[in-house]
Amino acid sequence: MDLARFPRRHYSHGPTPLEFLPNFTRALGGPDVWIKRDDLLGLAPGGNKTRKLEFLVADALAKGCDTLVTCGAPQSNHCRLTLSAAVKEGLKCRFVIEERIPGSYRDDASGNHFLFRLFGVESITVVPAGTNMAAAMQQVADELARQGRKAYAIPGGGSNALGGLGYVACAQELQQQTFEQGVRFDHVVVGSGSSGTHGGLLAGFLGNRIDVPIHGVGVSRDPADQAPLVHKEAQAVCDLLGLGLEVPREAVRCVGGYWQPKYSLPNAAMVEAVQLLARTEAILLDPVYTGKIMAGLIGLSRAGTFRKGEKVLFVHTGGAPAVHAYEATLLGR
Ligand SMILES: *Cc1c(COP(=O)(O)O)cnc(C)c1O
Repeated sequence: MDLARFPRRHYSHGPTPLEFLPNFTRALGGPDVWIKRDDLLGLAPGGNKTRKLEFLVADALAKGCDTLVTCGAPQSNHCRLTLSAAVKEGLKCRFVIEERIPGSYRDDASGNHFLFRLFGVESITVVPAGTNMAAAMQQVADELARQGRKAYAIPGGGSNALGGLGYVACAQELQQQTFEQGVRFDHVVVGSGSSGTHGGLLAGFLGNRIDVPIHGVGVSRDPADQAPLVHKEAQAVCDLLGLGLEVPREAVRCVGGYWQPKYSLPNAAMVEAVQLLARTEAILLDPVYTGKIMAGLIGLSRAGTFRKGEKVLFVHTGGAPAVHAYEATLLGR
């Protein structure tokens, strides 16, 4: 699959590490757990949105835009990384923030919100839960157009066909690394939110004929609601690549039960997962995404879906700054 025909910016120094987790594996007592360190991608600090932004920002620059406009929740990693890319490229950046939990937006908040201010976001428009985010971003773009500026709107999570190419690139990187390191995985576990990561990775696996099941752990929806979004994303990426293939419904595997009580609100399994990886491997997970995703991996191992002797790959998608907005919870207080 030829990704070279799409304009791309480079924000990372090379492939992210692919490593075995010996202490975590021993503590879990189930399958051999490996990790793909996409938390070590470029931009500050890196995460899965870095890969999507390489293609999205290249497109913005090709179109002569001067301002990136995007949207997310109050502690959005995607917003922080979009701003980080904008700073690097000499672009301006504006956010529309959806206050999904009423009253949760605070201008003096820590974590990603602090970084929004430190990196110099140009403006933040806060809107209530359920707002049409595309329309709200269009309003910001229209306002900029009236000032003679040119906005580039990036959907939530950077999850459209172009953004999904970032995880096709990850699939290809992984294929090369597994070949070089002589390892074959039985399962891959990844987060499934706005779906660009899960859908893009699936498109990359199908297009490169990597026959390993991808389990997408939901961070905000049950499988019945999440699977159609992932399928749509994977199909859009395949279509953009001109692969001429239909994404089979059964290739989309969504895992539920770990995101409750609500997107971004903590649960006990998340706290256990964050503590376990921190205390066995000194690797940070975050409370909103990767803590719940790892809780899914732990749960599927204990349930016997992932068996002893099998090799499971956890794709670490980043998110570390959010730990500072949840310190007491993560210490079990
Ligand atoms: C956005 C995000 C995800 C989910 O990825 P999507 O592409 O939105 O599905 C997972 N982990 C972290 C840390 C994220 O910021």
